[in-house]
Amino acid sequence: MDLPTQYDHRAAERRWYPFWEQEGYFHSQPDAGRKPFAIVIPPPNVTGALHLGHALNNTLQDILIRFRRMQGYNTLWMPGTDHAGIATQAVVERRLLEEEGKTRHDLGREALVRRIWDWKEQYEARILSQLKQMGCSCDWQRTRFTLDDTCARAVRQTFFDLFRQDLIYRGKRLVNWDTHLQTAVSDDEVFHEEVDGHFWHFQYPVIDPRPGEPQFVSIATTRPETMLGDTAVAVHPDPDAALDQLESELEAKLATAPEKEKADLTAQRDHVRQRRTSHLPQLRQLAQMAGDGRQVLLPLLDRPIPLVADEWAKPELGSGCVKITPAHDPNDYDVGLRQDLPMVNILNPDGTLNANAGPYQGRTIRQARQQVVADLQERGLVEQIEDRKIDLAHSDRSKTPIEPYLADQWFVKMDQLAQSAMDAVRDGRVEMIPPRYAKSYLDWLGEKRDWCISRNLWWGHRIPIWTAPRSAAVESWLQAGLAEQPGVAVRFLEASDDRPARILVCVAPDAQPLQRELEQQGFVQEEEVLDTWFSSALWPHSTLGWPTHTPELDYFYPTSVLITSRDIITLWVARMVLTGLHNVGDVPFRQVYIHPKILDGYGETMSKSKGNGVDPLDVIDKFGADPLRFGLAYMTTETQDVRMPVEFECPHCRALIEQTKKNRLLPAIACKKCGASFSTQWATAEADRALPRGAVVSERFELGRNFSNKLWNAARFALMNLTDYQPGPVDEGQLQLEDRWILSRLATVTATVTEALENYRYAEAARTLYDFAWDEFCSFYVEMVKARFGDPQQGPVACRVLAHTLDILLRLLHPLIPFLTEDVWQRLGEVAPQRGVPEPVAAAASVMIAPWPAAQRDRQDPQIEARFARFQAALGGVREIRSRQNVPPKTEVPFAVRCDEETADLLRPMQPYFQRMAAATATAWGPQTEAPALSSHASLPGMEIFVDLADLIDVEAEIARNEKEHARLEGMITGKEKKLANQNFVDRAPAEVVDRERHSLAQLRQQLEALEATLASLRTRS
Ligand SMILES: [Zn+2]
Repeated sequence: MDLPTQYDHRAAERRWYPFWEQEGYFHSQPDAGRKPFAIVIPPPNVTGALHLGHALNNTLQDILIRFRRMQGYNTLWMPGTDHAGIATQAVVERRLLEEEGKTRHDLGREALVRRIWDWKEQYEARILSQLKQMGCSCDWQRTRFTLDDTCARAVRQTFFDLFRQDLIYRGKRLVNWDTHLQTAVSDDEVFHEEVDGHFWHFQYPVIDPRPGEPQFVSIATTRPETMLGDTAVAVHPDPDAALDQLESELEAKLATAPEKEKADLTAQRDHVRQRRTSHLPQLRQLAQMAGDGRQVLLPLLDRPIPLVADEWAKPELGSGCVKITPAHDPNDYDVGLRQDLPMVNILNPDGTLNANAGPYQGRTIRQARQQVVADLQERGLVEQIEDRKIDLAHSDRSKTPIEPYLADQWFVKMDQLAQSAMDAVRDGRVEMIPPRYAKSYLDWLGEKRDWCISRNLWWGHRIPIWTAPRSAAVESWLQAGLAEQPGVAVRFLEASDDRPARILVCVAPDAQPLQRELEQQGFVQEEEVLDTWFSSALWPHSTLGWPTHTPELDYFYPTSVLITSRDIITLWVARMVLTGLHNVGDVPFRQVYIHPKILDGYGETMSKSKGNGVDPLDVIDKFGADPLRFGLAYMTTETQDVRMPVEFECPHCRALIEQTKKNRLLPAIACKKCGASFSTQWATAEADRALPRGAVVSERFELGRNFSNKLWNAARFALMNLTDYQPGPVDEGQLQLEDRWILSRLATVTATVTEALENYRYAEAARTLYDFAWDEFCSFYVEMVKARFGDPQQGPVACRVLAHTLDILLRLLHPLIPFLTEDVWQRLGEVAPQRGVPEPVAAAASVMIAPWPAAQRDRQDPQIEARFARFQAALGGVREIRSRQNVPPKTEVPFAVRCDEETADLLRPMQPYFQRMAAATATAWGPQTEAPALSSHASLPGMEIFVDLADLIDVEAEIARNEKEHARLEGMITGKEKKLANQNFVDRAPAEVVDRERHSLAQLRQQLEALEATLASLRTRS
């Protein structure tokens, strides 16, 4: 058999992925006779290539899908990508500007969308290829894209249904406006940043003040230009009551507050008391005036605006009065609705001021701000300007400040829909794992905020609404026939300030020919596109063919589980649940597994823009796909985010250079080992770009690579010894002790791994297999059976058990490391096509479709497992002493074990193995065992091992070693004594901590005593 000494991961990856694909193992068809197991992929955005977070997400999905496939489920892993509206358009627009100096308006809608399609084709291909290189076993024949015809039909149908049910409406709402991209962005696409700013205090003159009344009201703002859109000034309707209530709340807090908070609370209360004299009389007056319908004059525009009584004005803050700008502030917007105030929009979509700003029209916000302040100063209306840190909202996409902006938008009414999705999690139809994530889901849905679904973009699903101004002629044309068609829904929109009354017509996807008729009548389709999440919300059912009642939808829906990250529980998971319930009448998945996030060594999220992003392809290139997968699974525990220290790999000498916050931003780095330089992703200068690039990787994947090598070597050894393998049954009586042990361990490990994978405990599955494969199978069992291969009596059985064990181990490991296991499986098939204990059966054509092993519970023997666990430890002790004393391998040594009777009973039958594996003969076992006069010893939990060295030892070296140990123990004892002599520690520390310290001190003293005895006996020999 041709077996390379080193595992060649590249060759295996190149060979086996196409093999699986060609054999059709990834493809799934509905089959009423089998149980389905389905996962829809969280579709990666076509914005760019996949990062390590995607690698984790997809590895976990593939592990599960491969596991369930082997368990006999009819598995479907539905792949696809997301058009990612705003993100993708922003990327393409940025490139357009950088490379050609053009904006989207230079290109026009059609040409820009064509460009984005080109981008999409390129990145989609790249993403799908990355998934394949990771080994993902998706059903590629079913690959979907959120903008493809199937998904588009589902989007149209959903929009139509919701519109017809009045669950979609058009209205003016205050939105987060990105003036750079000129679109609304959702709250979730906004980040906050503190910036240096000012707090400007202005005076607005009171119109016709009566004697004794104030001449001015004072207001303060961080955005002076918004005063141009003011439509009221508010004062609290009952400032006395408001201050009373605040004071009694503060008193109540003071009564129970801890000492350190009291000073602050007292100051707050005193401030409230002081306001009674400084501000209350005037606020009472103003509240009265507001009640009388009095007005103030908005300076600069000289517009009379009302003084209104509203609780949004806080008598304890500032002057107690606030300006109200309903079209440009979310709180003022609420006041505007309550007080029925006009809403004056002063901005154009590009962030310049419009005609409502009077003389300031055409200026940018910054220009208008300067001019407004200067003009108010000239009129003597500026009271004060304070410096202030301001918490400013920014758009995540363009990184520019957000302007609250009143815009015509499309909304989904969330009330009933949100409730249905909350009920589904509360009553367990959808189970969140870990359960703590149900809270953010329920909290967010509980707000029941209407969902703004329109985006002023060109890349996406265009809103399927056609509009025309309302007229008798058009209405009668509609009534004459079109309105009666089943695929048509008509609504009327009343006139608003800036637009006449209009007719809205929504056309269902199957009635598309009617669109032409509408357009011939002068109807125009809405310009905006839908929020990307509107299409991804339908993903679990749209990908299965809904609204068509397909066999796939019937069979695979609801899917089994969704595996995703916590960032999109609200944006995506919640919305999939509510659209699934609305459209299909059932939840989209039974379980949601939320996995940890990947962070770098500093605990920061990885991203290309920080320079700490690891490209999964670099990891695959350096370590292989299996180590990537294994490393990720090994670190995926239930509670912790995955921390991955990041390194640069020197392209010259392959050394790993730790990435720091500093060097990760450099365009070129000099290797610490070989001195040569390499470039990073930041290289722009000619000289830097000429250098070879250093990949960004993480040594955490070395664990997986070492594991692969260890497994490969053990498998190689096994395969070379199986050349004479003869299939046949194995009788119980033919099994040796080590066979019964490995079969028992195999049963135990199978049960543990199965249970772990069924419950998404990936790290536990990976670690159990790692320990078993490495410590028990590779390092131990393979070595133990070695002696029997040549034996005509025992050889055949040894081969059968070995082939069987390797077979089961490959199956258990396959979901984690598919390439290596397939590579070995195929070679094992060549020498042992029929294998198994007790009866051999024909092995599957691929490990990928081999049945998942059932734990052979009747093989579990706790006594044998305990015996081997003790034996492994004791043997390790003997070997450690042999190597420490440089005893030649063939030289026989006598040894003794001091342990309790139970351990002695376990170890006694292992005598021949000590002989065989360590050339060691036991002279004594048990509690009475005395150390031989001249021996070297090893202390293990519950065991002391003594190797009699009378004829072998280097006495001087042994004395030196023991003296060193003696000093170490003495140091530890002194430390503990000091600690326990410290009255402060003894009094303050919990009793069990003190007890533990005392106990450990007693143990150390015992060890010291034993050591001194050994030293004494050694010294008599020297
Ligand atoms: Zn180097």
